[in-house]
This record gives sequence, C-alpha cells and structure tokens, in this order.
Amino acid sequence: MLEDKHELVDKFGRRFNYLRLSITDVCNFSCSYCLPNGYQCDTPRTFLTQTEITNVVSAFAKLGTKKIRITGGEPCLRKDLPAIIERCKATSGITEVALTTNGFNLFDNIDEYKAAGLDAINVSIDSLDPNMFKLITGHDKLQHILKGIARAQQIGIKRIKVNAVLAKAFNHNQLKDYLAWIKHQAVTVRFIELMETGNGTQFFEQNHLSGQGVKESLLAAGWLQVVKGTLNGPAQEFWHPDYQGRIGLIMPYSKNFCQSCNRLRISALGKLHLCLFADQGIDLRSALNCGTPEQAVEQTVKLLRSAMSNKTISHELDKRFTGATKHLAMLGG
Ligand code: SAM
Ligand code: SF4
Repeated sequence: MLEDKHELVDKFGRRFNYLRLSITDVCNFSCSYCLPNGYQCDTPRTFLTQTEITNVVSAFAKLGTKKIRITGGEPCLRKDLPAIIERCKATSGITEVALTTNGFNLFDNIDEYKAAGLDAINVSIDSLDPNMFKLITGHDKLQHILKGIARAQQIGIKRIKVNAVLAKAFNHNQLKDYLAWIKHQAVTVRFIELMETGNGTQFFEQNHLSGQGVKESLLAAGWLQVVKGTLNGPAQEFWHPDYQGRIGLIMPYSKNFCQSCNRLRISALGKLHLCLFADQGIDLRSALNCGTPEQAVEQTVKLLRSAMSNKTISHELDKRFTGATKHLAMLGG
C-alpha cells in the first residue's frame, strides 16, 4: 500500500490511525489491579479543555486518524462528556467515536451519549459473578452495568465490547460464564493479559496469566480465529457459529505484539505518549493553545510529525520496564 504523506507513520512502517484520548485520570472505582486504594489526587492540575480537545483531535484527523477512543480514569465522570463526544464526532475525518468506561452510569446516560454521536463502547467487567465483581472493583454494580449494556444494545449501539483483565485471583476459571453470556449476546468479550505497572508490581507477580490458555481452550472447543486486516490493532479475535458474540485476546507479552500497533495516546494533561509504557510524555499543551485554532492545530501537527521518529519498536514489559506508567488510570489503558 502506498504511504500517504499526510499520515502518521513511524520508522518501522506502522501507521497510526487510532487515537486513545484520556479526558480525566479521576476514577470512582478501585479495581485491585489499577487503583487498589482508590483514586488519590497528588497534585493540582487541569484536564484538557473542550477547546484543547477539539484542537488535538483536529490535528490527529489531519494526519489520517479516523477513530477516537475516549478513556480515562473514568471518562463518564466528566459532566461535559456529551459535548466532548460531539466535538470529536464533528471533526472532519473522524468516522468513529468510541468510549471505554467502567459502565457505572451507562444505563442513565447512554441515550445522551449516542445522541451526541457515540458509535461504540467498551465496558470493563472482570467477573460475571456479582460478589467477585464487588471484590475486584469495590462496587456492587454488576447488574446495573449489565442493564446499561442492554440499554446500549436496545438503542442501536452496534459495537459493544466487554473488557476483562485476566488474573489468577479472580477470573481465570470463568471462561465458561462469559461463553454462556455471549451465546445469545452480540457482544465481544476481550480478555486482556494483566500488564505490570509502576504501582502494580506485587499484584502482577501474584496474578499474571498468559492468554494462551484461553486461546487453546477456545480452539479446542471449535472457535475459529478471525483473519485480521492489515490496519487492525494487536487484538486476536475468535468466532464460533453457535455464538452471537465473539472473544478477543489482548496478549501484550506475546511475541510480535507491537508489530501491529496502530494507536497513539494523549493523557488528560495533554501529553502525547508514543507507547502505553513510554518513559515520558511529550507536552502538547503550549502548541494546543498557541494563537488561533488554525495555528494551534498547525503547531500540533508539526509536533506530532516530529515525535514519530522517537517511537520505539516495542515496549519492554518482558524486561519488567514499565516506563512512567504508575497505573493505567493515568493514561486510559
Ligand atoms: N475506567 C475505564 C474502564 O475501566 O474501562 C477506562 C480506563 S481503564 C484504565 C481502561 C482499561 O484498562 C480497562 O479495561 C481496564 O480493565 C484496563 N486495565 C487497567 N489496568 C490494567 C492492567 N494493569 N493490565 C491490563 N489492563 C488494565
Ligand atoms: Fe477505574 Fe478503570 Fe482503573 Fe477500574 S480500571 S480503577 S474503573 S480507571
């Protein structure tokens, strides 16, 4: 395929057409692998404003980005989320706006999010057992979150995924629960291998599991691996003729995982992270606020282009290098 000079491409030929945009690092849950002691605010700070968000999304769109995923912390804690969705969706070139959420207020707000232009949701559900769910997140909200997903289906949100982090302590033996659930639900359940973070070393050492076991169980039960397009990200996906839903596997510790990397990340403080585990972010805020909106977008485009030469071939999680990432609520996973 010919390279478009306006695209973001790194020196390894990877194209970046997908932006994960964090809009807050605040969260109301205390998932044991992410914020086990709940959210702690260490320094005063201001999250990206709607104007800054419009400028950063426009800059990415000029460079070929088509899909934005809004994440956090918990993005639904921002009262202006509908306006943010609307601004992302109104940006020329952006064809899909997705949201990653713990789902705490989905039931009440999904109609408004859809009306604002939301196309897709990922909801984190690490166990389908209500007691275990409460133990993991600190909240007895599983049924309410499932109602939110049902509402999203009812109003026609087409792409619904459920994220479950694989951990020995809570869900390694629950594949059958998820399979029973997706038998009649057009939902993709994605198992994510637990990643080590700066604050999560002990939990990681006690709980990390490879997704390979899940993959082998699926293949043995007649599930088939979906052949990926060249622009798809690193997830592996499986389908089965008897199931309406699908299973995905995200295995960042597997060989060549980073080869299909297609995403860049912006933190809620306006830093560009070339990798989830980069050792620092590149501050875009002065560019995002310089002069007229057109000038701000132009400056940001320049910065983004020049940053690409620093993208490394792979994370170094296998060497236990977690970069600046203390927990994934900082950046949105
Ligand atoms: N609060 C929202 C949520 O939970 O969906 C969005 C932010 S959360 C950081 C994004 C995703 O990262 C969630 O699916 C979460 O389960 C996942 N995650 C958090 N910490 C992780 C870790 N150490 N390893 C793997 N996935 C993790
Ligand atoms: Fe909050 Fe999401 Fe982290 Fe859970 S995974 S603590 S919901 S940011």
